[in-house]
Amino acid sequence: MFNKLIAQTLPYFPKKFVWLFSKKYIAGETIDEAILASQQLNEKDISITVDLLGEFITNLDEAKANKDQYLEIIKQFELKKIRGNYSLKPTSFGLLLDKDTCYNYIREIVAKAAEHDNFVRIDMEDSPCVDLEIELLRKLKAEFPKNVGLVVQAYLKRTAQDLVDMMDLHTDEAPVNYRLCKGIYVEPKEIAYKEYEEINAKFLENLEYLLLNKAYVGIATHDRPVVKGAMEIIKKHNIPNDQFEFQMLYGVTPELRKEIQDAGFKMRVYVPYGKEWFGYSTRRLKENPKMANHIIKSLFVKG
Ligand SMILES: Cc1cc2nc3c(=O)[nH]c(=O)nc-3n(C[C@H](O)[C@H](O)[C@H](O)COP(=O)(O)OP(=O)(O)OC[C@H]3O[C@@H](n4cnc5c(N)ncnc54)[C@H](O)[C@@H]3O)c2cc1C
Repeated sequence: MFNKLIAQTLPYFPKKFVWLFSKKYIAGETIDEAILASQQLNEKDISITVDLLGEFITNLDEAKANKDQYLEIIKQFELKKIRGNYSLKPTSFGLLLDKDTCYNYIREIVAKAAEHDNFVRIDMEDSPCVDLEIELLRKLKAEFPKNVGLVVQAYLKRTAQDLVDMMDLHTDEAPVNYRLCKGIYVEPKEIAYKEYEEINAKFLENLEYLLLNKAYVGIATHDRPVVKGAMEIIKKHNIPNDQFEFQMLYGVTPELRKEIQDAGFKMRVYVPYGKEWFGYSTRRLKENPKMANHIIKSLFVKG
């Protein structure tokens, strides 16, 4: 109840005030700030994936501006030799306005990343986007087999079957490459698992399926039991270190992050930045009022 109240009223607080607790989770407003945050993570032997905030656009001019920004990000990040890759949300390029334009813009970005032998991760958005985003992956992977991958959400009931269906995209030379996460959007119970234990169980089932089928997996979670379950699967099947990595969001659970690294596993951090941080923070809160706990905590706990 309290969380919900915070989530609903936050957009009306002064921006400066909201920044006080958003700054822990966002690298800044500019490319330079994102580069600095990424360099600091690289120094800790953590690779990154950078994300420009700005989904939910209302016209295709914004889509083009986002595409141009991503091309600039790639240019700058490659120039600075940041160890990392690129994440994007297709709605930032007009997925729900004009899917062909969206495809062309994302294709340009993937082509640019491919010039540097690098990689673009297509984030998974809410359920109306899932088929469209799988379609994007299919088209792009046909042209850039090693340079593009998708996110899948364990809370969606369809995901297990989607993974089976997408195995036709897999080859030994260019494995399918997923980020597996629980899923952040509020979805109806008809299509999504709702219980914590059930979502965790599905996460680990999806993970085991992917690893046994030789997919590359970014294991994206801050949840200790899921991390432990993942490590057990990796050990049980003797999965080689080059077939997976752990992933976390910028600023979230750095202690667990360090423990995973100390256990000898690869870690990547998702670095969101951009002028749209205010909308991003307040929207995420509305989607998931439980986040208010973390935000309130970050107001009082420094570091
Ligand atoms: C690298 C990465 C990329 C992602 N990409 C997507 C995507 O493309 N699409 C999508 O739908 N979702 C995405 N997510 C979000 C994901 O789906 C979950 O909503 C989110 O990670 C929380 O789930 P969890 O596995 O950490 O477990 P939870 O059970 O939600 O959390 C476990 C514990 O982690 C800590 N924690 C979790 N989240 C936070 C937070 N924000 N701030 C502070 N502490 C926190 C808390 O201690 C909490 O108790 C991504 C997550 C990561 C890590």
